[in-house]
Amino acid sequence: MPERIDLHLHTTCSDGTQSPEAVVRLAKQAGLSAIAITDHDTVSGVAEATEAGLRLGIRVVPALELSVEYAGQDVHILAYFVDPSDPALAAMLADLRQARRERLAEMVGRLRRLGLPLAEGEVTRRVSSLGPVGRPHLAEALVARRWVETYTDAFRYYLSSESPAYLPNRTPSPEAALAVLKQAGGVPVLAHPGCYAGDDVLERFRRAGLMGIEVFHPRHGADEVNHLISTAERLDLLMTGGSDYHGEGRSDLPPGSVPVGADLLHRLEAARPVGGMR
Ligand code: AMP
Ligand code: ZN
Ligand code: FE
Ligand code: FE
Repeated sequence: MPERIDLHLHTTCSDGTQSPEAVVRLAKQAGLSAIAITDHDTVSGVAEATEAGLRLGIRVVPALELSVEYAGQDVHILAYFVDPSDPALAAMLADLRQARRERLAEMVGRLRRLGLPLAEGEVTRRVSSLGPVGRPHLAEALVARRWVETYTDAFRYYLSSESPAYLPNRTPSPEAALAVLKQAGGVPVLAHPGCYAGDDVLERFRRAGLMGIEVFHPRHGADEVNHLISTAERLDLLMTGGSDYHGEGRSDLPPGSVPVGADLLHRLEAARPVGGMR
């Protein structure tokens, strides 16, 4: 049987429910030969996963999934082989966390003006280990106060990008984000391209230095996969794939559930930017 891998997995270091070690164990049980831990806007799970990988005999590629707000959309960039100790990467991620804290304060202010006097602490105490503070925590706080009946209603009436309490995240431009990721040794890949509206997202990020696209993903149907394969060939982009697993109790598929061959990782590795500090 050909070697299989999974290049898109989340842990408790962002919004997953399983520890990095537990995810590595699940991947091993699924018979995978290599995985990448791709937590949102952090590399804090990489060390534990790498250590577990060495112990269990499964390769762990250091990575992350960076959110960049672009043209009103939340665009996700996967970056593989980043150096988790790179100072410029660490500075960018710290900036993003700070920007999210400021955004939270402003969104709480908007809710107050809408007649919902929420305290920031009611939101931040929900963050626990679930990564950077964001709208999911705000939604839970609104439900807890019974100002809305459901999590979905919280978005519908207050938090969605068309709603009155919404503010976009302050994030770097595609050019700035991709430069930092590549300088840190990362190979940047557009996550789940099937989830964005319009073709200009891929165009713009490719001009800014994008090196690949995520072709195999649970949200991509067969037609989408075929379209993305031909897009990758036409634009000379690398291909990746993974399950985007977030843990038990989510409707996610388990690690290894999206078939991805190890040859994709070998090509990714061969393309690592040489300018990276290591
Ligand atoms: P943030 O990064 O703080 O803007 O939060 C983005 C997250 O909010 C997404 O990853 C989703 O989990 C959630 N989200 C965004 N829009 C909606 C929506 N309309 N309904 C439910 N959840 C949403
Ligand atoms: Zn996630
Ligand atoms: Fe994503
Ligand atoms: Fe993801």
